[in-house]
Amino acid sequence: MISNNIDVNEKGHLTFQGVDTVDLAQEFGTPLYLIDEDRIEDRCKEYISAISEFLGEGSFPCYAGKALCYTDLYRTLERLGMWIDVVSTGEIYTAKKAGFDLSRAMFHGNNKTDDDIKYAISENVGRFVCDSEDEICAIDEIAKSINKKVKILIRLTPGIDPHTHKAINTGTVESKFGVAIDTGDAEKLIKETLKKENLILMGYHCHIGSQIFEFEPFCEAADKMLTFSKKIKDAYSFEAKEINLGGGMAVPYLESDKKISYRDNIRELGKFIDTLLKKLSLSRPIFYMEPGRSIVADSGMTLYTVGSVKEINGYKNYVSVDGGMADNPRYALYESPYTVINASFADKDKDYLATIGGRCCESGDLIQENVSLAKPKRRDILAVCTTGAYNYSMASNYNRLPKPALVTLKGGKARISVKRETLEDITKCDV
Ligand SMILES: *Cc1c(COP(=O)(O)O)cnc(C)c1O
Repeated sequence: MISNNIDVNEKGHLTFQGVDTVDLAQEFGTPLYLIDEDRIEDRCKEYISAISEFLGEGSFPCYAGKALCYTDLYRTLERLGMWIDVVSTGEIYTAKKAGFDLSRAMFHGNNKTDDDIKYAISENVGRFVCDSEDEICAIDEIAKSINKKVKILIRLTPGIDPHTHKAINTGTVESKFGVAIDTGDAEKLIKETLKKENLILMGYHCHIGSQIFEFEPFCEAADKMLTFSKKIKDAYSFEAKEINLGGGMAVPYLESDKKISYRDNIRELGKFIDTLLKKLSLSRPIFYMEPGRSIVADSGMTLYTVGSVKEINGYKNYVSVDGGMADNPRYALYESPYTVINASFADKDKDYLATIGGRCCESGDLIQENVSLAKPKRRDILAVCTTGAYNYSMASNYNRLPKPALVTLKGGKARISVKRETLEDITKCDV
């Protein structure tokens, strides 16, 4: 199976964390998001221990909440002592509701409004990751007006191309994010920032992209960031205390994808950094990494009920399900690959080639094309694997579809973490 929390039971039904998915679909309805909380905890612990062991004590993972965000998840993250990345007041508020200590939160985004900034300062968010001169000036002014000092990192674009899809590649010079090292803009901005009385510059941030299987691009990023840090130290006597290397570690979505060990990657990165710090004679900063996808993706699964199977003779077979781009827009957005399984007959041969369509009024509303699965019929349950990241967090109410429920599995027990939206919920802001 694509992930070791997926299996088949004696009834031939697919199981997730040992629980029968056909039973779950019956009990909670479909479409349904499932989240394996034990897997999330294991991943967090793997990152926490590898990062402190190989990047230095005090170094920490910040979970990027844009991958998956709801109150119950942040309760788990608080219990584990994780740091988090937030990108909006909505994410800050969600963490706050969970009782998350926001001093361990980093506030990202390339366009924070004045209201966002006021809110984040008033909630004592631990770090601002600043994206531009406009933003730095605004934070300084707002902080001054309420007599506070704000700790910031500056987001740099290191000019690295990790060879992924261009919509998820963010570290090149022409990116909309951050300020470029190569153009001299970064240095200019730091000079300005050091004059700001209400800002405490802690260091630098970069995020080079997503779905990166190798450790080398992270080494390249660390090289650029630390070499730049050394240059700034020599020129302005400012030494960065914190370096955030961003997220982007990959997740296998198909059986044919490479396997990845986050711990091994971080160990190799750590060796590289040790040598680099010696070479540059810099003291060791605190390092952060910001995994999103790699913490939650294979903790997730989506269940659908099959509606129709349509065979267009000589062309293709469509299997339509009761969800689609409203709960998982990723195939429509970037043709993301997913493994699809007929959960009702998971023990049968996967000998039926089909395109899995959603129920939205768009031809592009597909979950996946050309997948092989046991031939489904109306009322069978389909499972789409590895949907923990960027599915629920990207869900919409397109076609006025209520968002699915999200059920958490822990130790083989299921509980609702997010209720299914009702028709009343769909109209609750209408006047
Ligand atoms: C998206 C994002 C992440 C998380 O990326 P993953 O690919 O989900 O690990 C981390 N940091 C920043 C700044 C991001 O924009």
